[in-house]
Amino acid sequence: DVSDESLADLLATSVTRFADLVALDFYGATTTYRELGDQVVRMANVLLGLGVRRGDRVALVMPNCPQHVVAFYAALRLGAVVVEHNPLYTREELQHQFDDHGAEVAIAWDKVAGTLQKVAETSPLRTIIAVDITTALPRKQRLMLMLPVKKARETRAAMTAPAPGTLTWDRLLKVATPLAADHPKPSADDLALLQYTGGTTGAPKGAMLTHRNLRSNAAQGRAWMPGLKDGQEVVYGVLPLFHAYGLTLCLTFTISIGAVLVLFPRFDVDQVLEASVRRPATFLPAVPPVYQALAEASVKRGVDLSTIRYGISGAMSLPPATVEQWESVTGGLLVEGYGMTETSPVTLGNPAGGTRRPGSVGVPFPSTEVRVVDPNDPTHDVATDEPGELLVRGPQVMSGYWNRPEDTAKTLLEGGWIRTGDIVVMDDDGFVTVVDRIKELIITGGFNVYPSEVEEALRRVPGVADAAAVGLPNDTGGETVVAAVVAEGFAVLDPAAVREAVRESLTGYKVPRQVFVLDELPRSLIGKVLHRDVRKILESHPDRRT
Ligand code: ATP
Ligand code: MG
Repeated sequence: DVSDESLADLLATSVTRFADLVALDFYGATTTYRELGDQVVRMANVLLGLGVRRGDRVALVMPNCPQHVVAFYAALRLGAVVVEHNPLYTREELQHQFDDHGAEVAIAWDKVAGTLQKVAETSPLRTIIAVDITTALPRKQRLMLMLPVKKARETRAAMTAPAPGTLTWDRLLKVATPLAADHPKPSADDLALLQYTGGTTGAPKGAMLTHRNLRSNAAQGRAWMPGLKDGQEVVYGVLPLFHAYGLTLCLTFTISIGAVLVLFPRFDVDQVLEASVRRPATFLPAVPPVYQALAEASVKRGVDLSTIRYGISGAMSLPPATVEQWESVTGGLLVEGYGMTETSPVTLGNPAGGTRRPGSVGVPFPSTEVRVVDPNDPTHDVATDEPGELLVRGPQVMSGYWNRPEDTAKTLLEGGWIRTGDIVVMDDDGFVTVVDRIKELIITGGFNVYPSEVEEALRRVPGVADAAAVGLPNDTGGETVVAAVVAEGFAVLDPAAVREAVRESLTGYKVPRQVFVLDELPRSLIGKVLHRDVRKILESHPDRRT
């Protein structure tokens, strides 16, 4: 049974099977599977020398780069637990996570080493290995690698060179010897990953995932996508590896099928189009805005994306129009899946062959069961076509949240079921459609309003590019539906007219009492609208009427 294998075993198998094939491509600089395996055992030995033992957390704070992949498997080889971090997080955000997981060793992009040194002052962190992600590259490409300076101040503070005492990756790797081949390997039920959730609805929580969870999910993906050929695929890693979706689809799954992983430190249309000339992709796991941007660019600039036979979209709902656009431009297939950090994405998916249901996230993966229940009484299943909370059970489901026994108890039910917190509808054929998150439900005058329904209506109004509906507290102790909209291009929106326009498609209580025009919607790193931030913005908006 493959689910008894650890991810270290899985890598070793791929290194043997695909030895001379390219595993990683970073701006044309390649690493074969054999070289990857060699660097992993050397780095594992370095970490061992630094005192890393089975069960210890090892923090990774890097954008997508070859060193990220090596560091991930090196820590796993020792039975250590990888903790991924967004390298653009502020000092406070990183501090919060380091206090929570208590890693003593971090492998970090050299641009954030300075920030981490400050984090180390008040956390158990004591060793930082700084990674210069440009060392393997031709000089002219170094400039292109700069990540967007989203949080200008923090990032500038972090630009300082690593202080003395910080170890550098290149120097360590150069002198390292391989780990003894008989060094004990992790077992399937050891923790492999402490993966923080997306932080869309609150502070990110550390989901504890074992080797078995992640190995099973890679095997489920393999069984689900028989059209992918071992040792022949090229996967574009535009999703961040520090997010659960990218980590599983672009890394553990990709390595398990012996594909080439082309690493992009961030999604950038030009970089993808450039890579598609050098090494055309065959498989693209991504999020809806990526497919939209690439399809558009391909049409405008005549770039051929027809080699991408297969795309899998997740993390947020995929508009059917995007599927049509992508499939007509590339001739390939684009299917929607569903997953969450806690269930090692992807957990449900539209089949690549047979019936697909646009707008639906499909049916459960192999060896995965789902139920749709009453959120107020999860022992009670709701009827087909009735909205209810999705429960999932399978070998990929996490064992709990790190340091959060109360959240764990609320989320993991008896019998191995996990509460997803998502309201879905399941049809007669078992196809699941995501409606909304329970946390984002608006309750107004005793009625439930799903923001997604209001948002869909708003997006159909000419001139509206994007919309978010939230509930604001009113004087009766309930909530009032309000909405933020973003104008398309140079369109000028009249909030009252937008409100009038949705009256035709929405029942009275669902119509936003007030519409606000914003320049953009606040989004999470992977692009989800942050409703809690929208609420804050609208609550204190100067135009707000109470
Ligand atoms: P947090 O749990 O910290 O608030 P998050 O839930 O966004 O953040 P993730 O684990 O990355 O963190 O995301 C999982 C969630 O993403 C799911 O619970 C679901 O709400 C949403 N999601 C995933 N796939 C889809 C999809 N295809 N359509 C709609 N929503 C999706
Ligand atoms: Mg969540």
